[in-house]
Amino acid sequence: MEVERNPVAGYEEVLSFREDSCGLRGFLAIHDTTLGPALGGTRLWSYASENEARADALRLSRAMTYKAALAELPCGGGKTVILAHAGLKRAAAFEAYGRVVESLGGRFFTGPDVGITDDDLVALGRTTRHVVHMTPAGRDDINQYTAEGVWHGMRACLEFAGLQKVRVAIQGVGHVGLSLGRILKRNGLSLVVADIDAARAAHAAEELGAEMAAPEEILKVPCDVVAPCALGGVITEQAARELRARIVCGSANNILASPAAVEELARRGIIYAPDYLVNAGGLIRGLEFDLLGRADSTKSVEKIYARTRHVLELARERGATTMAIADELAEAFLQAARSQAQRGIDSASTPA
Ligand code: NAD
Repeated sequence: MEVERNPVAGYEEVLSFREDSCGLRGFLAIHDTTLGPALGGTRLWSYASENEARADALRLSRAMTYKAALAELPCGGGKTVILAHAGLKRAAAFEAYGRVVESLGGRFFTGPDVGITDDDLVALGRTTRHVVHMTPAGRDDINQYTAEGVWHGMRACLEFAGLQKVRVAIQGVGHVGLSLGRILKRNGLSLVVADIDAARAAHAAEELGAEMAAPEEILKVPCDVVAPCALGGVITEQAARELRARIVCGSANNILASPAAVEELARRGIIYAPDYLVNAGGLIRGLEFDLLGRADSTKSVEKIYARTRHVLELARERGATTMAIADELAEAFLQAARSQAQRGIDSASTPA
């Protein structure tokens, strides 16, 4: 097993690892542990290049730090991405990757993200103790809380925009997208769904009584809300120009592809619910369940509503984007925690 440290400014630790016997190749980034050990899922995806995979791990781990800070949780941000390819021997690869996680001595805890099966988590659990929520029931629970959090964020956006019974376009009806669809249906919203997995899209459309759109069309359909629940980077500048929705609010991490996309949304007056703010439900649940043994996290996840309102109102007051406000609030929270930690060190080193 080869593990290399690749220092990156602004990140506490970035590792690349490979084990050729099972085709394992991946990147693990710990962004910031000011608030506590880094938490972040493991993603298995087919990337165009190793650089792209590494960049994804960096972006996603930073978003995890901000997600935890805005939710005021005692954890930091990390993420792993593993490159998917035909030669990957999954069980052996996840066992080998587990040894990398274990070697960090509890500075990084991981769980499932896109592309990860329950079998992968079981293999991972054979070599590391630092895996969160491994049972299928536990995973469903996390997905459900993530979807509920997105719904609370969406409610805040709808009220802010003065909209009520609306039409929502869901991109990706996997674990979170489908759970979100069920919540929206219960709340009387009408739905249009798309998934690159045609069978999944058809199944979701039937269960939700939703219309179905082609994956390449879903971001352009006439609707009130677009909910990206597939992968990040989907709202490019061009996509932002073509949206026919008033609100973008979904579970995917890093939905906006570039600063130009942020600007284009702002120029068109489209409300953007910062992803790491509204998709924090699963993280909140995971922490409360594992660390506090809490049976129910409904009340904590509901707070996403008030936080989203706060960000929307500050953005309006200051004429800033919601992303800028959310980043600022997260940074301020982290800075306060750093200053408090520094004061603790100073007072401990001051002679009595
Ligand atoms: P998932 O893999 O279960 O679902 C993703 C779905 O999107 C799949 O059905 C896939 O076929 C589909 N998809 C991929 N590309 C698509 C495209 N271009 N157009 C349409 N469909 C496409 O993943 P998930 O657990 O539901 O997570 C969804 C997103 O939410 C991810 O970005 C994930 O990082 C993020 N997220 C998930 C959680 C969680 O609790 N699961 C928490 C926070 C954030």
